[in-house]
Amino acid sequence: MSQLFRALPSVDRALDALRSYGGSSVLKGMDDVPRAMLRDHVNGFLDVCREEIRAGVHSVPEQLALEVLLPRMAAYVRAKCRPHFRRVLNGTGVVVHTNLGRSLLADVAVEAVREACAHYSNLEFDLGTGERGSRYSHVERILCQVTGAEAGLVVNNNAAAVMLVLDTLCKGREVVVSRGQLVEIGGSFRIPEVMEKSGAILREVGATNRTHLRDYENAITEQTAALLRVHTSNFRVVGFHKEVTLEEMVALGRKYELPVLEDLGSGSFHDFSGMGLGDEPTVQRVVAAGPDVVTFSGDKVLGGPQAGIIVGRKEWIDRIKRNPMNRALRIDKMTLAALEATLRLYADPETARRRIPTLAMITAPADELKRRARRLAARIRRELGDLFGVSLLADASRVGGGSFPERDLPTTLVRLVPTGFSATELKQRLLDTDPPLVGRLDDDAFCLDPRTLADAEFPLVCDALRQACEGASS
Ligand SMILES: *Cc1c(COP(=O)(O)O)cnc(C)c1O
Repeated sequence: MSQLFRALPSVDRALDALRSYGGSSVLKGMDDVPRAMLRDHVNGFLDVCREEIRAGVHSVPEQLALEVLLPRMAAYVRAKCRPHFRRVLNGTGVVVHTNLGRSLLADVAVEAVREACAHYSNLEFDLGTGERGSRYSHVERILCQVTGAEAGLVVNNNAAAVMLVLDTLCKGREVVVSRGQLVEIGGSFRIPEVMEKSGAILREVGATNRTHLRDYENAITEQTAALLRVHTSNFRVVGFHKEVTLEEMVALGRKYELPVLEDLGSGSFHDFSGMGLGDEPTVQRVVAAGPDVVTFSGDKVLGGPQAGIIVGRKEWIDRIKRNPMNRALRIDKMTLAALEATLRLYADPETARRRIPTLAMITAPADELKRRARRLAARIRRELGDLFGVSLLADASRVGGGSFPERDLPTTLVRLVPTGFSATELKQRLLDTDPPLVGRLDDDAFCLDPRTLADAEFPLVCDALRQACEGASS
């Protein structure tokens, strides 16, 4: 064993060899990694080799020659130097994929973020007076134009928006909610818990599947602060089921002079009716029905940056603006820049549909997806033909992000059956490629949905697949 340990190269020799290995291509894009850090990673790799020697992985010194170790060492060091937070290829077909970053921004929104971060701006500066201004002023007008609301405000995300609204309007008093709407969203946002944190008291009414207007009315007392409706987002109730309509709630609120609050979750400005996604009202339609306060996310179906948008009647929005908690939940300038740019695209519905990636992906026609799946399959066959069995499969994609649950969008998948190892193994290896590629499993195949992959990403997909297969041979 000591002979094996002695066969390992020294750190300095390994580092020098790494630098000249394969031209300098191994270290491409790593020019600014300090030498000391490279050295640490080379050391880390040699430690792995030492562990392997102890575990009996190597039997002859030749296996530990520098030339033999170099490809693995290069891969190890590259992996260690990569940023932790990085780009991923989304082949799942889930458009608003919360784990993969939800919405992609439109080009103009990306450019607006760049501009806002690279330069000083009028973030809180009034260019009319030269005095201090408000960061909220930049998007309030356009929010009102798009939604038809009287006033608006934006905070960090929709969870914060709901919390802030309840804290401002309902603290220490009762909020009436239907039992059918006490939902959990994404594991950490549960309406009853958010309400408790905000200091509002939950007054549940109705049954899990059915709630009537009289249930709300019977629950109203001196203690009542508001009536709340929550979008059930990530699940769908079918069968013997009834919820009170927003119009009925608004009428009830008026009768008792109570604000009606609506948490839309994923609010959409785009009308998806006629796409088989069910009958989801747009934010504009919801606002027109007259609730006092409406909250929704910026980065779900809206297709903008992470944000919680609050719109509604001026008297309530003004009170919400004055809540000191607002300061703790405020949005930063990058969000503001991206949001304004996104909202501006909504001035023309067709422009929004084409240029906001989330909308373009959700509304992509089935025949176009089929053509694109064919193109991706052809490229994979051409470049990697012997590594995979490639075929097409008619299937469905999902919108994701808790929007349109259980509603399918027709698509065509590229089905890959790797030769020599399993699809499960392929899926695992693709997590470690550069960039990683996430897809879905269908029995013995790994599947890619072209809906969430851009044409420009097809070469990267092939590259990732090649890397995954090379990983197999080393
Ligand atoms: C998604 C969602 C939230 C939370 O929104 P975030 O922007 O993720 O904070 C709150 N309520 C409903 C109904 C939702 O669907």
